[in-house]
Amino acid sequence: FIYFYQMIPIKETFLSFQGEGYFAGQASYFIRTQGCDIGCHWCDEPASWEFKSGINQSLSNILKDIKKSNVKNVIVTGGEPLIHDLSNLTNEISKNNFSLHLETSGSYALTGNWNWITLSPKKIRPPLKSIYSHTSELKVVIYNNKDFEWALEQERNISKFNNDCLLYLQPEWSRKEIMQQQILDFISKNPRWKLSLQMHKYLNVK
Ligand code: SF4
Repeated sequence: FIYFYQMIPIKETFLSFQGEGYFAGQASYFIRTQGCDIGCHWCDEPASWEFKSGINQSLSNILKDIKKSNVKNVIVTGGEPLIHDLSNLTNEISKNNFSLHLETSGSYALTGNWNWITLSPKKIRPPLKSIYSHTSELKVVIYNNKDFEWALEQERNISKFNNDCLLYLQPEWSRKEIMQQQILDFISKNPRWKLSLQMHKYLNVK
């Protein structure tokens, strides 16, 4: 039982709506891990970058809190969650029949057992090839016109391993009006792609 008390660096845990991708609108319990070294200039969560801050929370406490929340989906996000070995966390949570979702840049080796993996690849640190066959949805953030080429490159990569993967373009929050027409043009020509908006931000919740 020792592993059950392993401490995991956590920035925060909270109940909210999943705002993005296929499960948008579903109430979910979020575990935001602490630590990221990717450095996206438009990052929503720069407070999660620092490796040494955050709270140390035991798996037993996290599990108690998840059970209280009464939701089905547990979403592990970051930071970059895969900086940490997530095997024990997912083993314990999945024993309790929750659906486990991971949100990752794919820049570190995959650990843990997941029901759903959202890959949000970053140009400055492209994903490891090994993540593609496990990816349920690919979510590419669109900041400027160069990101469409990046999206197509990622589609080509993922199609070699995984033809069922869902594909989403998500405008960076400050650019959603500016890039709207270009995104519509792209999706019209590439109908496998859909729009994802950060629904939680319209509600001003986490
Ligand atoms: Fe922020 Fe995610 Fe980029 Fe890390 S990978 S800098 S947490 S957007």
